[in-house]
Amino acid sequence: MIIQFDKNAAPDQKDKIIEKMESLRYKSTLVSTQEGDYLVGTGKREFDIRELGHFPGIDDIHIVSDDYKLVSRKWKVTPTRIDLGDGVCIKEGGLAIMAGPCSIEGEEQIAKTIDHLTGNDVKIMRGGVYKPRSSPYSFRGMGIAGLKTWYELASKAGIKIITEVMQVSQIEEMYDYVDIYQVGARNTQNFNLLDELGKVDKPVMIKRGISGTIDELLYSAEYVFSAGNERLILCERGIRTYERASRNTMDLNAIPILKEKTHLPVVADPSHGIGIRHHVEPIALASIMAGADGIIYETHEKPEEAYSDGQQTLNFAESKQLIRKMRQVVDLRERL
Ligand code: PEP
Ligand code: MN
Repeated sequence: MIIQFDKNAAPDQKDKIIEKMESLRYKSTLVSTQEGDYLVGTGKREFDIRELGHFPGIDDIHIVSDDYKLVSRKWKVTPTRIDLGDGVCIKEGGLAIMAGPCSIEGEEQIAKTIDHLTGNDVKIMRGGVYKPRSSPYSFRGMGIAGLKTWYELASKAGIKIITEVMQVSQIEEMYDYVDIYQVGARNTQNFNLLDELGKVDKPVMIKRGISGTIDELLYSAEYVFSAGNERLILCERGIRTYERASRNTMDLNAIPILKEKTHLPVVADPSHGIGIRHHVEPIALASIMAGADGIIYETHEKPEEAYSDGQQTLNFAESKQLIRKMRQVVDLRERL
């Protein structure tokens, strides 16, 4: 159950509701976000909702049968919009394009990528400065210095930044330089990190775990929301299966299923999803037709020289073509 408090509900009104919940043997979790104050009630006993309805301080009560509550579409029928400012918005029915290299490599590479993005009217740049790598000997990112350089160039060009945060101590140092924190597939169930991201007022995009189920992804989002941050985006990036012909198995099924289960925007990552450069385009286009609200993909001036994930990275000509086709497919999706 989710109780939405009135904007000006007094503390003693909230206490009385919590007491009532206790008497009904419901566990209460108070949640306070950018948008409002909620009380999440979990319990087994059925009771007549009218027992609560007359308490002052309540704006609305919702019965949510799912085990995850706040991220469920069952209570929040209006889909969540993530407004990044300057007219950049991630929302249902739209197409947020987030493009850039796997790893941020230096000033020249950043500047060339920004030129490519602005030339194609793309407003969000991706890139890693803290890279989770399978081998400790691989390039592990430029760190905070790289992020600062990136921010300086991106903000001048009106480009928003999405980048991965790998641990709690990085949240604060990155804060002034990011527009969206990305939680990578290897950290989807790092619950301490999720709890701490609940305390910031910037959007968070959570990627599906390497072998994670759809429900596990929703629970990860529930962690962040229940800790106080409801500006959330989910990302399908492929999962590990027995198939070895592609890097991961892009789970297109997850897109409509997530859209049905949650009010949060759903983004697809075809680069990590298939891991093969010349197949990124069809998977991106298929993701849009499956209902994705955005596409995040890797692009680099010279993919063969990229410090990481070159095999799945589009060059700028391929990226330009993909952007054009994605926009055509969104128009088609609207018309169907
Ligand atoms: C990335 O976006 O570069 C990345 C490391 O992705 P994932 O966490 O999905 O593997
Ligand atoms: Mn990558």
